[in-house]
Amino acid sequence: QNALLSATGTTIFTVMSALANQHQAINLGQGFPDYDGPPDVVRAAAEALMDGRNQYPPMTGVPELREAVAAHNRRFYGIDADANAEVVVTSGATEAITACLMAVLNPGDECVLIEPLYDTYLPVVKLLGAIPKLVRLSPPKWELPRAELAAAFGPKTKAILFNTPMNPTGKVFTSAELAFIADLIARHDCYAICDEVYEHLTFDGWKHIPLMTLPGMRERCMRIGSAGKTFSLTGWKVGYVTCDRSLAPNVAKAHQNLTFTTPPNLQRGVAVGLVKDDAYFEGLSSHLQAKRDRLSRGLERLGFGVLPTQGTYFITTDVRPLGWNGDDVSFCRTLTEEAKVTAIPVTAFYAPRTDTHDANDGAPNHYARFAFCKGDALLDMALARMEAWL
Ligand code: PMP
Ligand code: GLN
Repeated sequence: QNALLSATGTTIFTVMSALANQHQAINLGQGFPDYDGPPDVVRAAAEALMDGRNQYPPMTGVPELREAVAAHNRRFYGIDADANAEVVVTSGATEAITACLMAVLNPGDECVLIEPLYDTYLPVVKLLGAIPKLVRLSPPKWELPRAELAAAFGPKTKAILFNTPMNPTGKVFTSAELAFIADLIARHDCYAICDEVYEHLTFDGWKHIPLMTLPGMRERCMRIGSAGKTFSLTGWKVGYVTCDRSLAPNVAKAHQNLTFTTPPNLQRGVAVGLVKDDAYFEGLSSHLQAKRDRLSRGLERLGFGVLPTQGTYFITTDVRPLGWNGDDVSFCRTLTEEAKVTAIPVTAFYAPRTDTHDANDGAPNHYARFAFCKGDALLDMALARMEAWL
């Protein structure tokens, strides 16, 4: 059997959701809304299903969705992309990340990753025989350690893969940070895989900036979006990559060998969604901002050290001010078992520095991540349960 996969644990999201179910806990762990996406988007997909759009669609995506992705890029960021030659539809951003890594990495190439990182990044880089170069962000500020990042780039660097707005930190990369990254990419003549699934989930006037819009970056970036996040439909697994025409054929060939196509009826729904008016996208972030505020205020009142969140579905909290002396893993486990509320330990987003899973030396190990993409009544109930437990 494949040694790397044998050594890979079950994802923390599955582990914690199973534990939540087992203890009938309110699941503020795995990031999925408990409300449905826009009815017109869902209806368009349902109608497409009933209309018989159920056979293999074109490999790189149905033309209507590729056009919608291109129009969305133009409307929000001024990115001009050819819908036929520069957009590839995938089965979720998860597939898109793997397809983009496959498109550029050869065995022995180095790939820069920024921790805390989403859990598919590292195993896929390693499975491709590439060498991960990890750079850590640390709470409470999650600032980009510029000297360390610069040192992670070298003659073998082929790509950097990073996520903004960033899960789990809620950090939105600034234009100055992006300019710093862009400069490294240009100097080392490499590519960027930009996981931008939370592009529309930003708060307090923070605006998402695609790295692709910076000077010199248009040809080097593969920009990834997800219908799961943009339309609160995480089970749909429809993702989209925008990249230069010189890169798209390889991304498409990776997709061809991973899933080949993505359900055409869902693609129809997403196409309807991406051309919705600006009010939809503004409403999405203001609706979530109110939930962020509700949960942040409640957690603060309970004594958690709540860190600011500029985007995503997530709040990270320091559990030490509660008087918790153990680590985040034991905290999240105990919270699930006793308070009946589930959160995700942030250490899960840091790579162990050795093969023993405990040894993620120096990574912060007293932070819990809470998802706030839930109905207000459920958020209030979770807070009440924690208050009764504390
Ligand atoms: N990247 C990040 C940072 C995520 O949080 C997620 C979780 N949904 C994904 C990628 C995967 O997105 P999708 O569900 O579209 O595969
Ligand atoms: N992106 C979601 C999260 O971070 C979960 C995705 C998954 O379960 N793999 O919670």
